[in-house]
This record gives sequence, C-alpha cells and structure tokens, in this order.
Amino acid sequence: MNPSFSVQYMTAVEGKVRAAHMERFGVAGTLFSAPARVNLIGEHTDYTGGLVMPMAIEFRTVAAISARNDGQATFYSANYGESRSLDIASLERAPQGHWSDYAAGVVWSLKQEGISVSGFDMSLEGDVPLGAGLSSSASIEVAVALAILSLSDVTLPLETVATLCRRAENQYVGAKSGIMDQFIVAGGVEHRAMMLDTRSLAYDLLPLPEEIRVVIANSMVRHSVATGGYGNRRDEVEEGQAVLRKVFGREMLRDASLEELEECREKMPVESYLRCRHIISENGRVLEAREALHAGDLKRFGALMVAAHASMRDDFAASCPEVDTLVEIALRQEGCIGARITGGGFGGCTVNVVRTQDTERFVAQVKSEYEKATGIKADCFVSSPSDGALALAAKGEAK
Ligand code: ADP
Ligand code: MG
Repeated sequence: MNPSFSVQYMTAVEGKVRAAHMERFGVAGTLFSAPARVNLIGEHTDYTGGLVMPMAIEFRTVAAISARNDGQATFYSANYGESRSLDIASLERAPQGHWSDYAAGVVWSLKQEGISVSGFDMSLEGDVPLGAGLSSSASIEVAVALAILSLSDVTLPLETVATLCRRAENQYVGAKSGIMDQFIVAGGVEHRAMMLDTRSLAYDLLPLPEEIRVVIANSMVRHSVATGGYGNRRDEVEEGQAVLRKVFGREMLRDASLEELEECREKMPVESYLRCRHIISENGRVLEAREALHAGDLKRFGALMVAAHASMRDDFAASCPEVDTLVEIALRQEGCIGARITGGGFGGCTVNVVRTQDTERFVAQVKSEYEKATGIKADCFVSSPSDGALALAAKGEAK
C-alpha cells in the first residue's frame, strides 16, 4: 500500500505513536489499537455468571510493535513518558505496582497459554482517560495482546483473547474483574451494543439507532470502598449466593429467581438479601433491555436504565450523593432517554442515552447544573458504539 495513502486515515494518536516508535526504536512499527468501553446496563452481575450490556467507545489505546532478536521486550508508554524492559524467557509473575504490569501481564498470560513470544519493542499511547472507569486497563491489555499475537503470527478467537487478557489483569496485575471489559474491548462492533452472557460467553449484537448518542459523565468523585464504611459487596453477595446454593441448589446467583430469594430472606443478613435482589433483578432488566433495543423501543430502554440506577442506589447501596445528583440533573434535561451510574460504583461515571439533536445542550446544562449543585466540574464525553480491537484489526484501520 502507498504509505501516504494509509497515513491519511490515521487518527491523531496513531500518527503520534507511529512517530514516537520511529524516533525511539528507529523502525516503523506495525500499529494496533483497542477501544475503551462503557456499560449501558447490567452492573455487578458479571461475577455471578450474569448478563451485561456494554459497548465499545471511541477512545483508544494504540500500540506500535517491531521485532527484536535478543528475547527482550521493551514497552514505552507515551502517557507516562517511561519505558520498561524485561526478559521474556525468564518473566515470572512478579507485579511491580507499575503501569507496565498490564503489558507484562499479557506477555505472562500468553506464555501461560503456551504461545511462544519472541522479542519486541512496543510503543503505547492512549486517549482513554486513565482510571476513570472506562477500562483503559482492558484497552491496553487487548492492544498489547493483538500486537504480540500478530508478531507471533497467531490468530485466536475472541473468547480466548478476552480470557487471556482477563487473566493478565486478575492474576498478574492482581485486580478483581469479570470478563466483560476484555470481551467488549476485543469484540465490540460499530453501531452495536452487546449483550454478553458472562458465563457462557454467548453474545448478541444489538442495534443502537442513529437518533441517539451515549453521553458519559464523570462525577469526578471516587469514594473509597475499603474505608468508606460501604462494606464488602462481593462478600455480601457470596453469602447470599451460598444460601441459595444450599437451599435451592443454585450454583450461581444467575440461576436464582426473585421468588427463591424471597423464600431465603430470613436465612441471610439483610445486606446480602438486598445485594442479591439487585443482581437478580438486574439480570432481568438486561434481558428486557435487549428486547427493547430489538424492538426499537427507546422509551422502555430508558425506563430500564432508571430502574437499574435505583437498584444500584437502594439495593446494592453502591451509588453516592454526587452521582445521584448527576443522574437527577440528566433526567430533567430535554432529550434524555435514560441515565444511570455505570461501573463499580461509589463515584465514577454515569451513562446517559440522549437524543442526538439534544446532545450539545444536554452536555452544557448537565455540566453547569452539576457544578452549581456540588461545586465540581464534571467531564462529559459523547460517544457512539465503536469497533472493538478485533474488528479494527480485521478492517486494517491501523497498519
Ligand atoms: P480503568 O480501567 O478504569 O481506566 P484501572 O485502574 O483498571 O482503571 O486501569 C488504569 C491503569 O491501566 C493505569 O493506571 C495504567 O497503569 C494502565 N494503563 C492504561 N492505559 C495505559 C497507557 N496508555 N499507558 C500505560 N499504562 C496504561
Ligand atoms: Mg480497569
């Protein structure tokens, strides 16, 4: 391909990474990129085998890779202005509490999978806000994985790419997370949300009409779960799940019904009952949300988002006053179809579905009213469902 032809279609970040790689390593790298994601509905369901509905968004992490022949791997992140080198053959599971753990963890996980990894230099840069709940972590993992796999001339199915990146995050970095992030970041499709069954990994791609945009609003607050008196949600859920397992033989909460939970109500602490009620009802809402999108019924979709927020706030007790305020303000705006907290909770972002023609005013109003109410300036991003890394690589958008 004529190089000037492909350059025309590069994003700004791709152009920067390509130039940075050339400058640092003296060769043109091959480019790969992976998006960030937002979850439309289905919160705290993924560690009990439940249903989620994320979509990939336009922010991306770009990786440039080139081979070297001494068995070393060097990662350079332009976001941090730092690099790290490691010896691939002797790489052990030894996280250093450094950004490079996400990249080293992928090398480790690929080796665990029995894939032979030879030496390389890699440059990375992303425009994903870091640590904002949009999964820059899955984004960097999947970009790194695709770049290394391509150099090794290995093609893997979506499920395997997602699973091995998740293993990097869970077992190498040491962060607890379900499969949702890596799966949507690798497998998202433009113009589509995805309903994912986190147990079977079966998924359904769902149309999001052009008449709406997804606005992500960052509340800019993050309350500490460990020290804020919120308790440990996962332990509370597990306690309830154990009761349902004993009484009804439900291996995972996913299989339990609200009626069964009701019957077990006295056998578990009230917190466990409420947390489980959120998860069981949320799985039901995800299924309904799928139907709504298939039917093009945005009103119903919006109502489900509002119900999902109330459940996160009241039953899961994982919202906070600032985020509740952000959702209330959003729901008052013209053209807002639905709004809810997204991500783990206790702060972070909200996701809002807004009519396209009202988006600009929506963003301006939400920012100004939120600042008036809390004194905090929210960050807002307008997005549409984007391609995941595999679709991007298949389309050859980055070379
Ligand atoms: P989130 O996934 O919500 O953004 P995490 O704490 O899970 O938050 O992951 C963020 C971390 O991922 C960053 O602190 C950094 O260590 C790593 N990371 C993500 N993108 C990059 C990048 N472009 N360069 C280096 N490290 C990155
Ligand atoms: Mg993350």
